[in-house]
Amino acid sequence: MKVGRFGSFRFKLIIIGSGPAGFTAGIYSGRAELKPLLFTGDKQGGQLMNTALVENWPGAEKGVMGSDLMMKMRKQAEKFGAEVIDKKVTRVDFSKRPFKVWVGEEEFQAEAVIIATGAENRMLGIPGEKKLLGKGVAVCAVCDAPFYKNKRVLVIGGGDSAVEDALVLTKYANEVKMVVRRDVLRASKIMVDRVKNSPKIEILWNSELKEVMGENRVEKVRMVNNKTNKEQELAVDGVFLAIGHKPSTEIFKRQLELDEKGYIKRLGEFTTMTSVEGVFAGGDVVDFRYKQAVTAAGMGCMAALDAERWLEKNYV
Ligand code: NAP
Repeated sequence: MKVGRFGSFRFKLIIIGSGPAGFTAGIYSGRAELKPLLFTGDKQGGQLMNTALVENWPGAEKGVMGSDLMMKMRKQAEKFGAEVIDKKVTRVDFSKRPFKVWVGEEEFQAEAVIIATGAENRMLGIPGEKKLLGKGVAVCAVCDAPFYKNKRVLVIGGGDSAVEDALVLTKYANEVKMVVRRDVLRASKIMVDRVKNSPKIEILWNSELKEVMGENRVEKVRMVNNKTNKEQELAVDGVFLAIGHKPSTEIFKRQLELDEKGYIKRLGEFTTMTSVEGVFAGGDVVDFRYKQAVTAAGMGCMAALDAERWLEKNYV
């Protein structure tokens, strides 16, 4: 077991997750001198690491690169005393206090825990998708777009992520087609306008992907128009999935109350306390409505303040 910093065998606070919610919780609880231990997960920084320019982060008038923003948040949390460990928590036990958190066989204990594990990319669940993931099927346009110079690509989805991906891809690919299952985009108006004004993007409305085909790489897809039921095959080099996210709550399933979609339930609208006293949650792991970097950061702040007050009441 890893020995904590307080002369005891445990930490006051463990934060699980390193998106805007996790790092903001780290900044606030660090400043409150709780010396939190923060596990980043496999990949630090969360979903903003897959985003190019973030234009709606308050104060960043000219926009800020998602990865830069996350690196700055990490440094800020560390500056105030958060210990950041680049590992993924694999198991937890919240049945009694102190709470236990494992990374493989390594055990850590904490008086309070903040969960900020965010959400992961949803997949379509169609034939060929898994087999060709990383071989033409991609989930991060910012990461993979440069591989598609002068190629033909599809972007699946009609939300802000899909629109943003399509726009990023226009810088490289010859042909960008968005596959949208309804006859309307869900994305914000400013982004929709940019897509509609881009000569390189074509939108295939009322369309659904049924299969991704190819031996070792994506070669073509099978699609259906859900209004006419007409099927067609389309030769493409890349398929970018941008159909939303699902909360990363697998390891909390038997520990905390989750809703039917897998989001962690909180005790009320104005608290970050979960169904287990002393375990708090914030960001996309609880938020099915707003899902913004700034709201996640706000909830990370709330979770840290709730944890601090709860620790004062219960442990000092
Ligand atoms: P989203 O808003 O949930 O949109 C998902 C899109 O994928 C929708 O168009 C949805 O279609 C479609 N979809 C879902 N399941 C599908 C399926 N099985 N087959 C085909 N299409 C499917 O997800 P998101 O775009 O990742 O955005 C998540 C949140 O982050 C949003 O709040 C968004 O505003 C925010 N975001 C903001 C920015 C920014 O401000 N720069 C960038 C990215 C994301 P329907 O519309 O028919 O449901």
